[in-house]
Amino acid sequence: MNVGILTIGNELISGKTPDTNSSFIAREINRQGWEVAMMMSVGDDTREIGKALAHVLAAADAVIVTGGLGPTVDDITTEAVAAAFGLGLTMDEQALGHIRERFATRHRRWTENNAKQAQFPDGAEPIENTVGTAWGFLLKRNGKIVAVMPGVPAEARQMLTGGLIPRLRREFPAAARHVAGRLMKLSGITESAVDDTLADVDFAGMCVGIGFYPRFPEIEIALTARDADGERAEERIRAAEAEVKGRLGRYIFAVGGDTLEAVVAALLTEKRLTLAVAESCTGGLITDRLTDVPGSSAFLDRAVVTYSNASKTELLNVPQEVIAKFGAVSRETASLMAEGVRRLGHTDLGLAVTGIAGPAGGTDLKPVGTVFIALADGRETRCRDHFLRWDRRRVKVSASQQALLLLKDYLCGAGHD
Ligand code: AMP
Ligand code: MG
Repeated sequence: MNVGILTIGNELISGKTPDTNSSFIAREINRQGWEVAMMMSVGDDTREIGKALAHVLAAADAVIVTGGLGPTVDDITTEAVAAAFGLGLTMDEQALGHIRERFATRHRRWTENNAKQAQFPDGAEPIENTVGTAWGFLLKRNGKIVAVMPGVPAEARQMLTGGLIPRLRREFPAAARHVAGRLMKLSGITESAVDDTLADVDFAGMCVGIGFYPRFPEIEIALTARDADGERAEERIRAAEAEVKGRLGRYIFAVGGDTLEAVVAALLTEKRLTLAVAESCTGGLITDRLTDVPGSSAFLDRAVVTYSNASKTELLNVPQEVIAKFGAVSRETASLMAEGVRRLGHTDLGLAVTGIAGPAGGTDLKPVGTVFIALADGRETRCRDHFLRWDRRRVKVSASQQALLLLKDYLCGAGHD
């Protein structure tokens, strides 16, 4: 089944309110195994609503509309939909009773314009609003369905999952298909390199849809398969997943929704290793990310932001001479910071980052974006250098990502026990 989404409201087309209704409706439709044929937005204008409705209906079996169902004069969706089909309006006594009752129990003053919210195009089925007062409605025309919901996201969401989706499933029973999907998260590779590596894989031949979604500093690969038989859809996904893993396995840090910090946190906890962190150019971002994970106290002992040279010496015992000779941003300083913070925290691991976030401070030898990341475990200290060509914020985000990746690689490859 193909579904079209039409959102209505002057606030949408003026750019004042982002259209979040379309995206959650689309997600829900996809989850059902249906497809979204198109999404469209128009203002609160009878003619535009009529034209848009005709356009979307031509491409879809059902159209889901939101917005313009309120009591005020600018809410004209019900009239516009009725006019588009040459229908009159009828007051629904049951809906009216419900709305009046809602006003009474909440001690809100009733004004006559509220009755408008219980008026529907002739022959439409009202859909109850359990969150607010604007009821929705469902209209069948020539084997197609037009469903109209209020614009307030919480109300539309409730009406969609609570009333409309079950109703659509009954209306289009054969269309319900199982959807199998896999979300893989990659880091340390560009989108074009991912695309190039997978160029000769025939996903279409496997009946699997593939999408690339860059979400700085990561790339997501989404695989989807739809089938009337759920196990068959899952089998196709497993085959496609194996294909992707075979080629890009070393860049994949999570399959599913897990964040990189959650993956690292789980590994540290599982291996019973403790961690201390020393951050310079990331300003605490690595620690912020790690402490986003519930239960991070199991492994995180402490973290320091040693921004100045003096603090690197005072807190981490990095000798002044090392900083003077090699620079605060150097392999030597990063390594000594990692070893210093590890000693300070009496932890298994010490992680440290030092770099130049810019926009100033770069030199020919060490341009803006030069970052050193070191990890000490008491036996050896490994250090990676990176050249991150971004603006200041992105250098910080990217450096925190690389630090977590260094930890992850260490924990996957060479943990204790
Ligand atoms: P309405 O039902 O048209 O009176 O909309 C009520 C409020 O819901 C608007 O003022 C917006 O703040 C919000 N809203 C309407 N449509 C959308 C949409 N498509 N996405 C997000 N919010 C919306
Ligand atoms: Mg509106």
